[in-house]
Amino acid sequence: MEIRLAEVYGFCAGVRRAVEIVEDALKEEKKIFLIHELVHNEQVTVELASKGVVSVSSLEEVPEGATLIISAHGAVPQIFAEARQKNLKVIDATCPLVRKVQQSAGELTKHGFHVLLFGKRQHREVEGIIGYTAPGMCTVLENRKDVLEFVPESGKKYATLSQTTLNEQEIAEMNQYLQKQIPDLLISGNVCHATGERQNAVRQLADECDGVLIIGSANSSNTLRLLEVAKEKCPRTYLVSSPDDLPDLTGIGVLGVSAGASAPESLIRDVLQKISCQDPTTCG
Ligand code: SF4
Repeated sequence: MEIRLAEVYGFCAGVRRAVEIVEDALKEEKKIFLIHELVHNEQVTVELASKGVVSVSSLEEVPEGATLIISAHGAVPQIFAEARQKNLKVIDATCPLVRKVQQSAGELTKHGFHVLLFGKRQHREVEGIIGYTAPGMCTVLENRKDVLEFVPESGKKYATLSQTTLNEQEIAEMNQYLQKQIPDLLISGNVCHATGERQNAVRQLADECDGVLIIGSANSSNTLRLLEVAKEKCPRTYLVSSPDDLPDLTGIGVLGVSAGASAPESLIRDVLQKISCQDPTTCG
């Protein structure tokens, strides 16, 4: 079986930066607190926990004066305010590209635009972005159905923004549809560059392969979008979150492999090694 890797895959700059920020903080302190997960990947979370990173779901669990890391997905402004009240030392690992969307969201609502935000309501990044908009000035559109059902109010100014890790083509289509309903719609953002280039690379790869593996976690938005994009071209596309859950690869002559932006290099290496060992022609 021939294995082909996507031209771009794995850790993006924002995730790499967040991991490095935490590793640097751990050189100074043995125990640091992290609100939610640094990135959406089990292996990264487990590894950081073993080094002294305690994940919490609210600041009530963090002792006065401790060090708090804000994840790559960002956080609502209230978290920063609460942290100040508790005298926490805040280290902000929010990806600069997520920060840019938060700032745009704030600016747009300040200038009277109602923000139509493409994204998943429960996703931390989306919660964070909403936190920067004025009350009642943001509507989340999760999918095409939400977009079709959305009824704009006349006389209102609208702008669209997007969670950084969605399907780039779907965003373009949803923007196009909304533009027909709202001729002066301001299209103010799209998925981030890392997401776009990984999706393009996996689309091209899936076109050339009989099977595709996407390495990453089921709770990672960008990983699920890679799965979606690859599946459009290659029905035998599978999500692999660990070397132990490889699917049956029988009959696949050319196998494409990509990985989500939060999948660490060690996981990708372990999965590739396991595939080689399942294939008697390549296992040494
Ligand atoms: S996927 Fe994009 S926005 Fe998200 S952390 Fe990576 S570079 Fe930043």
